[in-house]
Amino acid sequence: MTSEFDVIVVGGGAAGIGAVRRLVDSGTSCLLLEASQRLGGRAYTQDLGGYPLDLGCEWLHSGDRNAWVDIAEASGFPVDRGDPPWAKAHPSQDVNKDDREAAWRAYGDWEGRLRAVARGTDRASDALEPGGPWNGYVRAIAGFMSGVAPEGISATDYLAYDDASTGKNWHLPLGYGTLVAASLPSSATVRLATPAERIDLTGYGVEVTTRAGAVRAKAAILTVSTVVLAGDAIRLPPEVDPWREAAAALPLGRNEKIFLEIGRDTAFGPDTHAYGNLRDPRSAAYSIRPNGWPVIEAFLGGEGARILDEAGPAAGFDFVSAELAALFGSGVASAIHPLAATSWSRMASIGGAYSCALPGQSDARARLAQPFEDRLFFAGEATHLFDFTTAHGAHDSGQRAADEAMAAVRARPIPARKVPPAVVPARGVR
Ligand SMILES: Cc1cc2nc3c(=O)[nH]c(=O)nc-3n(C[C@H](O)[C@H](O)[C@H](O)COP(=O)(O)OP(=O)(O)OC[C@H]3O[C@@H](n4cnc5c(N)ncnc54)[C@H](O)[C@@H]3O)c2cc1C
Repeated sequence: MTSEFDVIVVGGGAAGIGAVRRLVDSGTSCLLLEASQRLGGRAYTQDLGGYPLDLGCEWLHSGDRNAWVDIAEASGFPVDRGDPPWAKAHPSQDVNKDDREAAWRAYGDWEGRLRAVARGTDRASDALEPGGPWNGYVRAIAGFMSGVAPEGISATDYLAYDDASTGKNWHLPLGYGTLVAASLPSSATVRLATPAERIDLTGYGVEVTTRAGAVRAKAAILTVSTVVLAGDAIRLPPEVDPWREAAAALPLGRNEKIFLEIGRDTAFGPDTHAYGNLRDPRSAAYSIRPNGWPVIEAFLGGEGARILDEAGPAAGFDFVSAELAALFGSGVASAIHPLAATSWSRMASIGGAYSCALPGQSDARARLAQPFEDRLFFAGEATHLFDFTTAHGAHDSGQRAADEAMAAVRARPIPARKVPPAVVPARGVR
């Protein structure tokens, strides 16, 4: 692989694809390097049991201002604007209604107290009511939202997302991952299974070393997750250390899914929702028969996702089976079968679910989003100031970084080239 481009985009998730769409639209020459064998990153739809199930992002959050809605409709992807399943409890769960409402009120009260905490310690756990009866539920919901326990959450950061959300959660029946991967323009130059291993600054701009050789460009846009950026998979110039420190202040939380197939003769109502145990912070949220399919999706966050990540899929399946048996009766055990379980935290090229600012570190997002000189630009969900943790935030950050890179590339005088643009030797694999 030998070539020269205006811009190299590192990472083919929602942010990288958003960046490439903007660069291609404006006629800027660009190359997309993706470490894995597929596009989409944390947007990944897999055919499981004949159904397009989203292993990563699934909901078009803030649907009424979500760029993926327009992209979907422009390319003929159906968008379901109906209420999400969590708006409709499974009929058999009506017995728990009072408890559910009390737990939900306790969560709202905790969110209210976060405002005062944001002006003080900024540690979201300080907003928990000491000995509060619903603290387990508050911890579980905070885990769904950010993937970590409240002790590790910046209250300022948590509120920034909440305040910006429009509360519209729409759905793509063909899968969010399907849409994201299909949205890369067909004219884009892309190299799959080609991780960037090293990035050097040159008189020309940047040189990105991969197993297949080195590529040069006037600028690069890095869209890899904060875990990858803060780690040592990509060797970066020491001048970029402040960006890596900002990434380390925005670690990825744990969120995982378990998919179960259910027998067609079971009494599970379609498009409904159930919550495992209102007092257990590890509890899962269950989406029952989404789109009428014979499937249950268990969503685990924080402490619940830890079971899957540390004890493995069989332990995760045992945990959710026991919760479902407690909710629907012991007969469900014979009616459900494991289909798949995710392992986002264990994937080296991702390393978790989505970013969460550590207490006192909410400004790390703005620090990470800053360009380095006029040649390295940073995108990815973690760089969005309020739509972080989402695929639309990732997309918008990619477009922002593409605009910045194009402006910098156009403004820069063309330097004398030290090497002819033809062949650049690979530095060798580390
Ligand atoms: C379980 C789960 C549920 C979620 N639910 C939702 C939801 O309902 N709605 C929502 O909006 N969001 C949701 N999200 C979050 C959403 O998926 C992410 O915020 C978004 O997809 C991140 O996109 P990104 O481009 O920033 O990063 P990524 O998708 O991580 O893309 C980065 C890419 O860089 C690649 N890469 C890594 N290292 C290298 C390298 N050295 N060289 C080249 N490439 C490299 C990776 O393979 C990856 O493809 C969910 C995430 C998870 C895990």
